[in-house]
Amino acid sequence: MPELPEVETTLRAIKKFKGQLLEEVKIHNRNLRWKIDHNLEKDSKNKKIISISRRAKYIIFDLEHMHLFLHLGMSGSLRIQKKDDNFFMKHDHVEFIFQNEKIIFNDPRRFGSLHITKNVGNHKLISQLGPEPLSNDFNGEYLLALSKKSKTNIKTLIMNQKNVVGIGNIYASEALFLSKINPLKTANRLNLKECKKIVSSSKEVLNQAIKVGGTTIKDFYSADGNRGYFSIQLNVYGRDGKKCKKCKGKIKKTIINQRATFYCLNCQS
Ligand code: ZN
Repeated sequence: MPELPEVETTLRAIKKFKGQLLEEVKIHNRNLRWKIDHNLEKDSKNKKIISISRRAKYIIFDLEHMHLFLHLGMSGSLRIQKKDDNFFMKHDHVEFIFQNEKIIFNDPRRFGSLHITKNVGNHKLISQLGPEPLSNDFNGEYLLALSKKSKTNIKTLIMNQKNVVGIGNIYASEALFLSKINPLKTANRLNLKECKKIVSSSKEVLNQAIKVGGTTIKDFYSADGNRGYFSIQLNVYGRDGKKCKKCKGKIKKTIINQRATFYCLNCQS
């Protein structure tokens, strides 16, 4: 599944369309995770792109008096082609046509979605989301206040999108390893110092992945939609039974909230 760093990299690759005229949106298949609004083509036709941004894993196009936003789902990707290029791939569902180029939304599993709305902040998919992980709103004091009210374990807490967005399963395991915090630790037992460490480690892991992703931007111009996932240095994820890179102890695997979780019993308490 594209995680926040992949979405951020996608955003950076398409930011050049800011200020351009969206001539039209062509929809080849409306049946994505949610059916695409039948007014979308009409309401977005010949609209200038005021800005392009990201909120959690949604990419938002601000048009005049209107917003388009999309989610890549489990398997979605965007690619850029010349406007008159007639190359198509299976599962190309939507084309955003600009003056010289087009952005194509491909999604084999169709868990992605595309929406049009007048007020994106009030949209039901957006309004309940917690702060951005890389923003200053996600800080030690904020996490401590949340943790104090919580009886769940810390991994579940930071993966809940209402608390903070974009810390996916792999990143949660890796951030907690860097924080030396056991993922099973009950959140309300954490102190401020530990919360600060979890916050800084989460930002570190996400920034590292975004940095790796930045080097793959050129692929947006190729026809190959399969860019794969960013391979950050994994310290614990997928390494059960192997030696911890810090203490040489064994990495353990457990299941938390139905998700595979990896940690070092020795380093993380
Ligand atoms: Zn260790």
